[in-house]
Amino acid sequence: MTKKRRSRGRSKGGKGRSELVQCANCGMLTPRDKVKRVTSWVSLVEPSLAKELRAHGAYIARQRVMKNLCVSCAVHFGVSKVRSREDRRL
Ligand SMILES: [Zn+2]
Repeated sequence: MTKKRRSRGRSKGGKGRSELVQCANCGMLTPRDKVKRVTSWVSLVEPSLAKELRAHGAYIARQRVMKNLCVSCAVHFGVSKVRSREDRRL
């Protein structure tokens, strides 16, 4: 059988079915081992105010926001790129 990718686009391996998660952008249900997980740090304080507070030596807490993106949204946002045949076979 022809094979496009060594991992078939997932990190599942030999194990069976994995649970579905929703894409944070489009809401598509995607297996957990197929989604691209993106971590971003979000500050609750406005950037201009945060800059001023930091200048005065204040510590500003940031919140970690985890996003699950489906493959097409990950490509759209530039998280992962379309690779050539030789690149993706590895
Ligand atoms: Zn999506």
